Amino acid sequence: MSTDPYDPHGSGDIHVEHYDLDLSYRVASNRLAGTAGLRVRALTDLRAVVLDLAGLRVKAVSVAGAELARYSHRGDRLRLRLAAPVAAGDLLEVSVRYEGHPEPVPSAWGTVGWEELTDGALVASQPIGASSWFPCNDRPADRATYRTAVTTESAYHVLAHGQLVARTARAGTTTWVYEERHPTAAYLATVQIGRYQEVTLADRPVPQRALVPAALRKDAARLLARHGELVAELARLFGPYPFDAYTLVFTDDDLEIPVEAQGISVFGANHVDPADGDERLVPHELAHQWFGNSVSVATWQHIWLNEGFACYAEWLWSPHAGGPDTDALARTWHERLAGLDEDLVLADPGPENIFDDRVYKRGALALHALRLTLGEEAFFALVRDWTDRFAGRSVTTADFRALAGEHAARSGGERRAEAVADLLTAWLDRPELPPLPARA
Ligand SMILES: [Zn+2]
Repeated sequence: MSTDPYDPHGSGDIHVEHYDLDLSYRVASNRLAGTAGLRVRALTDLRAVVLDLAGLRVKAVSVAGAELARYSHRGDRLRLRLAAPVAAGDLLEVSVRYEGHPEPVPSAWGTVGWEELTDGALVASQPIGASSWFPCNDRPADRATYRTAVTTESAYHVLAHGQLVARTARAGTTTWVYEERHPTAAYLATVQIGRYQEVTLADRPVPQRALVPAALRKDAARLLARHGELVAELARLFGPYPFDAYTLVFTDDDLEIPVEAQGISVFGANHVDPADGDERLVPHELAHQWFGNSVSVATWQHIWLNEGFACYAEWLWSPHAGGPDTDALARTWHERLAGLDEDLVLADPGPENIFDDRVYKRGALALHALRLTLGEEAFFALVRDWTDRFAGRSVTTADFRALAGEHAARSGGERRAEAVADLLTAWLDRPELPPLPARA
């Protein structure tokens, strides 16, 4: 069981290799019933398998590969006690039948997870909401492949992460089956259900589409008119887009903030409103496909590696969208941060502060400072090496430091490596806001 305050859920004793979810959902009554099959690898000798599942009622549990003595479901923990211990490396097939009315789980960061919409449902689980809709090992470092089958009324469009492999209509309901081959953290697993129309945005460098309610179609088309260019530009800077496709969902309801899922971003109706929509959110969410979804954090302590890059992507795209250039934005934000409390350490912000805006903005500033110190070529070579080397893997701030050091030494020798190490110490380990290096 976890004792890391950044990572309150899940278990380091197991690795779930694959989730097979067979779900049926009634939109009008928000009723979810289903079976989850989990292929679980023991990482240590185990007497029990502990999974996260909040709010739903367990109807039956079975285990293959070991003998189940009994199970208990208390609070948000589903505990499967085994009759005899299994050894590290052993594989178990766990099947859980469950049902109920899913709702977001409360957390230190607000309620997260499955959420009923006015006419549909969404999943927005970051950081610990996945247990609101399926039994899982809810920690960012534990990544699995998925098969997600959802049956609901045929009037609704169902999106899950991965590729749509089957869609079968029968007696007023439709079953949608998605397969995810990329290793995916539980918080990035998602289901989106609504009366959506599908709009094709661009085919290159990967297929991009939007799911929108009919009433938002025009505004979404305006907001996303240059989406193909955006993906191409971020792929040029960050390396190839890491998944097979990208889908933006616009819900009929307003949402407080957009949220990323694997190969998917979810926005509210308010985010596409020409009056108060915020275009910078589009590159931000897209950037998470590289930073967070493909290269993912080992624990939430390292979230600046996700949010710093996503925020920096906003600044990188800004001049292309007719806004200020990247350096000007960085200097504006540096001034604003200089007026705030300097009591936050990027590499260890404290669990309560992982979504503090200073993590986002100072994270982006640290990257900009690094770019000014390394130079254009070496900085973007480092970024592309980062997304390539750690694709599908979990990272820590130490991994980033080490790779930055490598690229600094390669491009500028020992002296530059030292300068970069000092720069990262100042930006990542100390609360005081360092000055931005002069513009190159
Ligand atoms: Zn973000």
